[in-house]
Amino acid sequence: MSLLRNAFGRLRRGLPTMDFMKNKHEDCANFDNGACKFFHFTNVDPKGQACPHFKAKKKAEVETADAVHV
Ligand code: SF4
Repeated sequence: MSLLRNAFGRLRRGLPTMDFMKNKHEDCANFDNGACKFFHFTNVDPKGQACPHFKAKKKAEVETADAVHV
């Protein structure tokens, strides 16, 4: 039984998650002043839905971005 449980656990961990759906482009480390550094898009809506390549900003980047907007 534990073999089956381990197999399901491995399968579940290997599946892609949809966590990026909770985020916006502006929260992504690849987002820079209206442009996406990953896809090389410009005019990206900061409030738009993040894509599966979303990469969370590090804490220092978030604090720096907040300081710039104040
Ligand atoms: S969420 Fe995707 S499209 Fe948006 S900035 Fe990040 S990598 Fe680019």
